Amino acid sequence: MSQNVVVIGGGPAGIEASRRLRDLGYTPILVEKQPVLGGHLARWDRLFPDGVEARTVLGPMLQDLDGIKYFTDTEISSINRLKDTWVVMLSNGLSAQVRAILLTTGFDLFKAEKKEEYGYGIYERVITNADLEDWFKAGAAPQFDHVHTIGFVHCVGSRDEKAGNRQCSKVCCVTAVKQACEFKEKYPDVTVYCFYMDLRMFGRKFEDLYLKAQKDYGIRFVRGRVSEVSEDLDGHLFVKAEDTLFGKPMKIKMDLLVLMAGMAPAAGTSDLARMTNISVGDDGFFVPSSIVDAPCSSSREGIFFAGTATGPKTIPETLSEAAAAAMAIDRYLKTPAKR
Ligand SMILES: Cc1cc2nc3c(=O)[nH]c(=O)nc-3n(C[C@H](O)[C@H](O)[C@H](O)COP(=O)(O)OP(=O)(O)OC[C@H]3O[C@@H](n4cnc5c(N)ncnc54)[C@H](O)[C@@H]3O)c2cc1C
Ligand code: SF4
Repeated sequence: MSQNVVVIGGGPAGIEASRRLRDLGYTPILVEKQPVLGGHLARWDRLFPDGVEARTVLGPMLQDLDGIKYFTDTEISSINRLKDTWVVMLSNGLSAQVRAILLTTGFDLFKAEKKEEYGYGIYERVITNADLEDWFKAGAAPQFDHVHTIGFVHCVGSRDEKAGNRQCSKVCCVTAVKQACEFKEKYPDVTVYCFYMDLRMFGRKFEDLYLKAQKDYGIRFVRGRVSEVSEDLDGHLFVKAEDTLFGKPMKIKMDLLVLMAGMAPAAGTSDLARMTNISVGDDGFFVPSSIVDAPCSSSREGIFFAGTATGPKTIPETLSEAAAAAMAIDRYLKTPAKR
């Protein structure tokens, strides 16, 4: 009988790693706390930089789950060390005794309401990047009449000591530019602003997308932070910012403001860290043995990581790491257990 491996978190990292483990001859037990598999990928409409539909990436992954035991709506009740194994109890009453556990618990979107000055959860016309993906995915037009001007606010809950996260979330600059272009495609007459600190368009074709956003779509990039958002009696927004390149204060009437909420550690990260006796960093994400040459290994024998559970990553990076984690687990399981 093939050896079981418990994989915790059924997003892109967990699904991909489970498929790889299965192909290597193991039986993955994939545990997902939400009612469906797919993680954040299941929420996105189109992916940067080319606008590939997210469902064309996730769909084939979900159709290839043969040989993987998966449980949705299920959480981890406890994890205990027993000799050279881990005993994992699930909230559905089942348990597994395994030598290896893979943590692929991903990230949570930063709670934008914590940045009170932007008015998320107070003003109807202030939404997040994820809300905008929901709109695009549902094919829904903004539910407001006459959208003339919209703004994107970068770095919401990232690179912000006060918000408890000084790290860059990596994917939100390119997501803002992608969403701004998509908005212009749907509503060519709308004026679109992006308020940024600096643009981190690090990936292949990302810079091309940024140039296209300026040249073909006329998106206005303003270097400066939004300091205040208020609302008039008709529900329109007034957005105050400073253009730090021109040293000029700005106050713009807007019909919609999109907050680029960053990546925060998944709820429950510290509980899993406590159960397995591994550490989390001061940013709240799991800490690998080495971010240079052992990104999938932890400080404890038999505990591995993949994907955004150890910090912000793109989907291609997540999938590569999932494959690497499966290889690392295979190598570990092929070495005889120390008794
Ligand atoms: C707004 C936005 C847009 C993005 N767009 C793109 C894009 O266009 N292209 C791109 O390459 N990347 C994009 N990304 C990044 C992409 O979403 C991530 O790279 C990807 O989702 C990471 O996959 P993951 O499996 O590591 O984490 P997740 O997608 O977060 O999946 C983790 C899974 O684990 C589950 N889980 C968590 N804790 C537990 C637990 N204790 N027990 C059981 N299950 C648990 C969660 O419910 C979830 O299903 C975007 C990110 C954001 C914020
Ligand atoms: S990727 Fe861009 S928007 Fe996101 S935190 Fe980094 S600099 Fe800010």
